[in-house]
Amino acid sequence: MRCPDCNKFVSFEQGEPEAELEASGASLTGTIRIVLTCQECSTELKESTFDVEQDLQDDAESAIIAALSGLTPSVTATDEERQAWDATEWDYEAEEESTEMTDRRETVSRKTLKSGKVVERPIKFQYQKQFYGYEAQVKVTVTAAGLKAGGQTQDVTADFTVILSDETQASGMEEMV
Ligand SMILES: [Zn+2]
Repeated sequence: MRCPDCNKFVSFEQGEPEAELEASGASLTGTIRIVLTCQECSTELKESTFDVEQDLQDDAESAIIAALSGLTPSVTATDEERQAWDATEWDYEAEEESTEMTDRRETVSRKTLKSGKVVERPIKFQYQKQFYGYEAQVKVTVTAAGLKAGGQTQDVTADFTVILSDETQASGMEEMV
């Protein structure tokens, strides 16, 4: 596209993605924005914002179970105790470790024949779809206060990493100028 600042037809450069994420009630929510800038003058030309909504319940329970077994002496919750846990009541904290922009081109088309065989055909460069997206690594710290496990009641803290990713077709990104 033509850049309004330097008035040239320019190539895109990938900007720094911005993540705004928050964890509470066993879910990770927020937005991640990606931006394409002008290769010549760095003016922001296109953007896309992704909504994030990730359930943390299973990961949080697994992390807590691992933390309990890592205690000395190790603690194992009974099935009954685990069924009484409510991960949505625990405290969560999210910390963005890294967010990177991703890009890929669709270089082959796949077609399934009647026989069930899949054939791949290369797509000419000018017809290839371009996708942009992100991959984010988020560290989540969970604290279960007054957790009942192994016949005891205690506060347990654990952390785990969540990997998020999404993408959109370049042509569907919003032009900012
Ligand atoms: Zn420019």
